[in-house]
Amino acid sequence: MCGVVGYVGPAGKNVMYRGFGGIQHRGQSATGVSSLDAGIGQIIRTAKVHGQAPLLLKDGTFQDMGGETWIGHTRYPTQGTDTRMNIQPHYKSSTRGKVSVVINGDTFNMGALKNFLRKDAYKIYTENDAETFAAVVMWHVVEKRMDLPEAIIRAMHMVRGAFSGLLISEWDEHLYAFRDSYGIRPLYFAQISDSRGIYYAVASETVAIYAMLEYMDLNDPFGDVRIDELREVLPGEVLAIKPRGFKSYNFDGPTQSRLCIMERIYLMRPDSLIDLQRRISIATFRHASGAASFAQHGIKPDVFCCIPRSGRYGSLGFAGAAGVMYDEPVIQNRDLSAEEQQARDFIGQRGRLEKLRVIYDRVYGKHVGTGDDTVVEAITSRRIVRILRANGVRELDFFSFAPPYRYPCHYGLHTKDPFTLVAARSGSHAEIERWVGCPVHYLDLDRIYAIDGMDRNNFCDACFTGNYPIPLEDVI
Ligand code: SF4
Ligand code: MG
Repeated sequence: MCGVVGYVGPAGKNVMYRGFGGIQHRGQSATGVSSLDAGIGQIIRTAKVHGQAPLLLKDGTFQDMGGETWIGHTRYPTQGTDTRMNIQPHYKSSTRGKVSVVINGDTFNMGALKNFLRKDAYKIYTENDAETFAAVVMWHVVEKRMDLPEAIIRAMHMVRGAFSGLLISEWDEHLYAFRDSYGIRPLYFAQISDSRGIYYAVASETVAIYAMLEYMDLNDPFGDVRIDELREVLPGEVLAIKPRGFKSYNFDGPTQSRLCIMERIYLMRPDSLIDLQRRISIATFRHASGAASFAQHGIKPDVFCCIPRSGRYGSLGFAGAAGVMYDEPVIQNRDLSAEEQQARDFIGQRGRLEKLRVIYDRVYGKHVGTGDDTVVEAITSRRIVRILRANGVRELDFFSFAPPYRYPCHYGLHTKDPFTLVAARSGSHAEIERWVGCPVHYLDLDRIYAIDGMDRNNFCDACFTGNYPIPLEDVI
């Protein structure tokens, strides 16, 4: 999982920096940014850091960057090692100039594309799909003399997998935002205006767009910054955005909306919007999934305990529907030193777990229910169950506000190895419960789709069902 953000308008560096705050939860291992600096002969400049966006402020290249057209990326590695070379944006050069690309998603015919490109001496230096995508676009520009919208659409035909991305070039003033024809990874677009002009923002989640808007609002002398239009970039759509205008191009092949259901269940921030017209948030969706879990299982513990952060809204929904007390007895140590924080970023979940403590008298002797948005590897759930038991709970039930995560994701989540998935490697439900350490109650997929009448044909749920919307015959 990764995040992308882009902006076209004045004060680009400051606005983009705020935008990173709205996608950093999608990737903390690296942050990168490119801008098109028209002031010095329309050249692309790029800054990359290992770690989170605040480190950009110390980066000499970022300090020097300017321009009105920006793209950025936060990385959670799903392909390639964690070297600087693999940090996005990636660029490709030609006699016409450079293109710079960021992508969220995973593509799976890179080997075949590399072979195809090698014939015409186009080299790929990294293990990252954004570089391959940039090279395929450049091949069409140089070898087939296409303009960028057409070259991007041709690349969308050739590159197989899930990708939502942004592209800028040195010979064309546009920022291009595009989404694969299945729309697996989200991408949102906003036109923003005030009495001085019109600006554009694109991002993996609406929170990033609102973060940018807030900064613009605080710095607007007339206080009239507003969003004129906020919408999804559609599956198979290419948006060409330039200062004071944009145009939409369409993929000339079949398209269908198959958004990743895990975006709603697990990936997106709770304050992201999923229904733009009615302004319904992820938090509201997860709250409803907790209530649906109570409706399915009918178990009434003495107290329902939230697992720090990810299980909060589902737990609130469960406790509310069950009419039982909601509590937060598991405390996360927030006063981490910078070194500990870095270690945590580096080793992921395991770094965090030592920082959890339970408030003994909130759970001792009680029947405790607890839950999380999903159980993928079950590292967190197993640990939580252990520390709750160590604090003397009388009875314990664990609720997953999603079905068993059984099948690997090839579209951008870091779950390619089935052996890491507790539901894939366990032979039976009893075996999952033995691993987690208490009864485990999953939520049926039908009940998730029943929330707000979601149409299951518009979602990817392959990790729960094994029905992969993009055929995997080319996976390498
Ligand atoms: Fe999302 Fe699962 Fe589909 Fe991957 S397989 S895109 S995680 S729903
Ligand atoms: Mg979690």
